[in-house]
Amino acid sequence: MQKTMLCAIDCDMEERQALRAEAERAALPLTFAGWSDWMAVPRGACVSVRHAAYVDETVLRALRARDVTRLLTRSVGVDHIDLATASRLGMRVHGVPYSPDCVAEYALTLMLMAARNLGAVLSRVHRGDYRLEPHRARELRDMRVGVVGTGRIGARVIALLRAFGCTVAAYDRVHTEDVNYLPLDELLAQSDLVTLHLPLTAATRHMLNRERIARMKPGALLVNVSRGGLVDTSALCEALETGRLSGAALDVVEGEQGWFYRDRSGETPTFARLTALSNVILTPHTAFYTGRALADVAKNTVEMCLEEEGRVANG
Ligand code: NAD
Repeated sequence: MQKTMLCAIDCDMEERQALRAEAERAALPLTFAGWSDWMAVPRGACVSVRHAAYVDETVLRALRARDVTRLLTRSVGVDHIDLATASRLGMRVHGVPYSPDCVAEYALTLMLMAARNLGAVLSRVHRGDYRLEPHRARELRDMRVGVVGTGRIGARVIALLRAFGCTVAAYDRVHTEDVNYLPLDELLAQSDLVTLHLPLTAATRHMLNRERIARMKPGALLVNVSRGGLVDTSALCEALETGRLSGAALDVVEGEQGWFYRDRSGETPTFARLTALSNVILTPHTAFYTGRALADVAKNTVEMCLEEEGRVANG
């Protein structure tokens, strides 16, 4: 049987270095290719793509034409890949797990920032305005926090929140021990702050729709480090503009593909409504961006590529 090869597409310098080191350690042949340079993908290679790559039917067909049947993404989420087409083409797709702490810590950072309205404070300071906020903030331990999704990241978020002394409740279709689960609508109605940790799927798209946002506690805060599509952005903007919600901190936004990771200053942004709001903190899908996560992704990509080889060999 032909030895498996890993082909990593669209890597930055750090990703190349990390993948090269792990592949060498495991004696796994590794090659790199640019985005859409499909002819550079070795036939039958196990392919690794970026989290921000939109892997649609055209891309999948191009890869399948290179006899690619195994696709790994350098992200936990797989919602940027057309899974239905991949399955139709006989391709297996896997997200690659990495340190959940890197995302959980970022969620906590955004919670603390939102609770103090730090986005507005910092932009005022940048304009030379050093006045205090009009209203005093709340401490995290005085808040009821609703954690939606208690998988790897949500579980770490709960552990960190407990260290802050918050009252924590959660919603998930799977229940784990020692967590106070509530029906989603009840959780939304009771929480001073809601934080989202679900994957984006057909079942979770717009889980926070207009009706659910209307059921949230008046003045609540929303933190989303999962996927923008979990929230109806237009309904969220309305709730923030009217003061129904007192703030949001978003690392992910609907329609971010093709928008984030470029300098958009001077352009009329799709996100103008969000960035015009002083009670919104917006960051460009950054939660994953740590050295440890990079190292984990490289190690797990190589391991999962070798596991896939074993699966193919065993039929
Ligand atoms: P996970 O699979 O460990 O946990 C997901 C949880 O969601 C599970 O407990 C599952 O039971 C629950 N769930 C799934 N569908 C559900 C539904 N329809 N109703 C109720 N519960 C449901 O995933 P994770 O590692 O905790 O990651 C969560 C998400 O975070 C990822 O899918 C990804 O979208 C996002 N993420 C974002 C970044 C970033 O940089 N911003 C980085 C990593 C992950």
